[in-house]
Amino acid sequence: MAREILVALALCGSAASLAAGRRHARPTLRMGAEPLSQVTGMASMDQAVLGKYMGLDTGDDCQVEYVFLDKDQVARSKCRTLPLKKVQGPVDAYPKWNYDGSSTGQAPGDDSEVMIVPRAKYPDPFRGGNHVLVLCDTYVPDDGTPLPTNTRAPAVARFESGGAEEQVPWYGLEQEYTLFNLDGVTPLGWPVGGFPKPQGPYYCGAGADRAFGRAVSEAHYRACLYAGLEVSGTNAEVMPGQWEYQIGPSIGIDAADQLTISRYILSRVCEDLGVIVTIDPKPIAGDWNGAGMHINFSTESTRKEGGLAVIEGMCEKLGAKHTEHIAAYGEGNERRLTGDCETASIDQFSYGVADRSCSIRIPRDTAADKKGYLEDRRPASNVDPYVATSLIFATCTSA
Ligand code: ADP
Ligand code: MN
Ligand code: MN
Ligand code: MN
Repeated sequence: MAREILVALALCGSAASLAAGRRHARPTLRMGAEPLSQVTGMASMDQAVLGKYMGLDTGDDCQVEYVFLDKDQVARSKCRTLPLKKVQGPVDAYPKWNYDGSSTGQAPGDDSEVMIVPRAKYPDPFRGGNHVLVLCDTYVPDDGTPLPTNTRAPAVARFESGGAEEQVPWYGLEQEYTLFNLDGVTPLGWPVGGFPKPQGPYYCGAGADRAFGRAVSEAHYRACLYAGLEVSGTNAEVMPGQWEYQIGPSIGIDAADQLTISRYILSRVCEDLGVIVTIDPKPIAGDWNGAGMHINFSTESTRKEGGLAVIEGMCEKLGAKHTEHIAAYGEGNERRLTGDCETASIDQFSYGVADRSCSIRIPRDTAADKKGYLEDRRPASNVDPYVATSLIFATCTSA
């Protein structure tokens, strides 16, 4: 999604200079001045008209949207029809499928097929009825090995070999994101080419002058609940145009699966509402909060008597592997983890009770109850949830 912004930026750059210098010669290319929707006509498609068709009955035919991750871990999807009986059965019995990997940078043109294997299914919030979204991971068709970009397969292996069955790892994933207008450069609620009033009133704010894009947050929340995701909440963030939702507590690989589908749903909601979403960790440089994905983590042993000591032991282990974890916590995180804006510096590890300037926060309740969970505040908003959740598990439960 960060890439989409960059593409939009590049487009806007050239379009804006065209608009300024050659407005009379190329009147149709005023993309910097007009919302992109008016240029392309795409986002202005009438959803009420679409609704007329979406209400039509399809009998025992179900639309099954196969969702998979491209080489940048961005969700894409394609749809096929399956009979209701199949759709209501277990996801393992859904047919495997394939897509053109040469179009996603995941396979050469002369051997282009990528095999996708259904792993989890969710009621489809966009089509309703018996239609479903199916989360898939990616394989080489010839020998069935996972693609190098398939981080789910090694995460599953890590959970299995590390004894996740007994340790029952829980995750609470706080996904932050930033909304942009269709010009790709102006966050929602910001004046074109300028800055809003400084941060302060926006976090958990209400009102037309402080909350921007609530429709996205609301629609996404409902859509995720409809899809059966364990969304635990949502809030407006510190930077205007920035929002957060939380998935969890969810167990093991299911947490990253749910987060992945929730990101896909977010991009679909933003497509409908005509805004651009990015999970870049620092979309606006300077004194504006970046975006993270704090990972709250607990196991059987941290949740029972004596848990606090186990958590402190985990913090020590996480500290010893700080560099390895930072490398796995998302691209561009060095722009976000500056030591300011409620972050700890990227090259210093720290942990503490209720301290939001630490790498790891032990919540006050956990300290008081002497059991509970820890919060790893380092992961960026664009972190790969499969890599991060499985790595935290491996490090924290290592001998
Ligand atoms: P913050 O105060 O950091 O903003 P949030 O309320 O946004 O915290 O997110 C905390 C997340 O942690 C929620 O998704 C919550 O469900 C999850 N959580 C709560 N208890 C546990 C636990 N024992 N283990 C893992 N995650 C937990
Ligand atoms: Mn939060
Ligand atoms: Mn937050
Ligand atoms: Mn947090």
